[in-house]
Amino acid sequence: MESFRQFAAQTVGRFVITYVVVGLLMGILYVLFRSRKIQPNGFKWRQIRTEVLFVALNMLLSGFLLGALAKLLQPYIAFNTEPAGWWVIGLEYIAFFFLFDAYFYWLHRLMHVEPIYTCVHKIHHFSTSPGILTTFSVNPLESLINGGFVPLFTAALTIHKPTMALIGPTVILMGLYVHSGYEFLPRWWNKSWITKWFISATFHDEHHKYFRFNFGGFTTIWDRICGTVRPRYEADFRPPHAATSIEASSETAGSSPA
Ligand SMILES: [Zn+2]
Ligand SMILES: [Zn+2]
Repeated sequence: MESFRQFAAQTVGRFVITYVVVGLLMGILYVLFRSRKIQPNGFKWRQIRTEVLFVALNMLLSGFLLGALAKLLQPYIAFNTEPAGWWVIGLEYIAFFFLFDAYFYWLHRLMHVEPIYTCVHKIHHFSTSPGILTTFSVNPLESLINGGFVPLFTAALTIHKPTMALIGPTVILMGLYVHSGYEFLPRWWNKSWITKWFISATFHDEHHKYFRFNFGGFTTIWDRICGTVRPRYEADFRPPHAATSIEASSETAGSSPA
């Protein structure tokens, strides 16, 4: 009974901290960066209410699922404790970055196929205009699929702990940024031959709005190879303080999951 009380108190504590932090971030973005909003008319209270419930469900269950997977893979998970140069950490980080990107792209495309879409991915697509809360508004099974990459990666490759310390913040910050609903990158981002290979908040925002394009999680590489970049992505990229918006597009939005 005591352990249940402890668990309940910890769970409520985590919920409160998450909602307070998310609420603060949303408030700061709304007050300070309104001109950078990707879909200016996308804010809906109904969406916020529903996502609050989905986030609670995800937080409640995904920990158990990911914990079970990590326990299953525990005999294979090991970290290299030898001292390592920055270039070794860099190479390990690059390996994670591009392997996870490929893993995410292909599983994400698979999750858009019925009945997997309805059973697993539909919760995340409740919002056609994502906000920070959307980052965590995910079916616990989808959390297991995406989050499961880290235990799989650390079971397959013996990486150093500093690399591991970079992976968690990368995944969380990238998730928060692409779901923020605000674009902070400059106009040249998707034109430069170096930066155009990396996704932006607009890129993922358009995935939530149009469903059929922009599946990449870190890069646009697989979308470019497979022809799934939204054709008007570059033209509709919303520069800060500009009048153009993907709202103005003539495409039919948010009607089809596939
Ligand atoms: Zn999707
Ligand atoms: Zn999303």
